[in-house]
Amino acid sequence: MGLFEISQILISQILVWLLFVYGTVFGSFINVVAYRVPRKESVVFPRSHCPTCQHALAPYELIPVLSWIVLGGKCRHCKARVSVRYPIIELATGVLWALSASRLSATHLPAAQLSATPFSAAPPSVVTQPSVVTQSSGHAWAAAPLLAGSLSLEQLGVWLLFWLYLMAVVGTDLTAMVVPNILSLPAALVFLLGSGFTGVQSWPMAIAGMVVGYGMIWLIRLISRGRMGLGDAKLYLSIGAMLGPWLTVESFILACVFGLIVGVGLRLAGRLGRREYFAFVPYIAIATVVTAFYGRALIQMYIQHVL
Ligand SMILES: [Zn+2]
Repeated sequence: MGLFEISQILISQILVWLLFVYGTVFGSFINVVAYRVPRKESVVFPRSHCPTCQHALAPYELIPVLSWIVLGGKCRHCKARVSVRYPIIELATGVLWALSASRLSATHLPAAQLSATPFSAAPPSVVTQPSVVTQSSGHAWAAAPLLAGSLSLEQLGVWLLFWLYLMAVVGTDLTAMVVPNILSLPAALVFLLGSGFTGVQSWPMAIAGMVVGYGMIWLIRLISRGRMGLGDAKLYLSIGAMLGPWLTVESFILACVFGLIVGVGLRLAGRLGRREYFAFVPYIAIATVVTAFYGRALIQMYIQHVL
């Protein structure tokens, strides 16, 4: 391994860890958004405070994940419990940002642009794929890479934003049982434009994904007589724009499988009544993450071993 390859690995590793840390910080802000937006409060003022005793949090009480662990999940003043949801969303955002950074194409790392040597041996975390070729021809959806070591910087940026949005609606669904229009409708536009302009999906695929995503929830809502909310359908506008139609369907099937497993489990344990609603967006989010990173591999496995 030459000096060039080593510097490549080093830069990509620094980037991954840096985005992990930034991800947890942004995840912390997302917690504020998820708590305040359904209450129609400003996300900027006042400063973060304990919802029980109103005591404003000091900077050392705002360190993502660590503060929660050190303070034992309690407010330092009134000892009210602080939900485990907060550190989980911070950690999840950090992990998603780091995972996405590890899928950055090596050709977009600074060292590759400075050096005249063509990038030969790809380090394990940054596997190069001829993304430009497959995307411009744009016919075989299975060949088009999605989060597979082929991201351009612009695409990485759109994905980072997408994970923030997904974490925000997980938060609003858990705290207030809603996917607020004020988040989901602008997001649908942002991720259509982001996906189309950076080539996460081709324009037709991004639009088809939105139509399929919204349509399938709308249809299920019709069949089940309103058991699924239109909030979920509006959330699927953004997911569809980022995943394209095929993976959007896959993500929904996975969400139902995850939701069913947990739902049946909770019901058997007597923790969920027959007609009780439970937040479905967390399952949509987990399924969307799994699909974005492993969706194509899962389909290939399914075709090989089941069909
Ligand atoms: Zn307190």
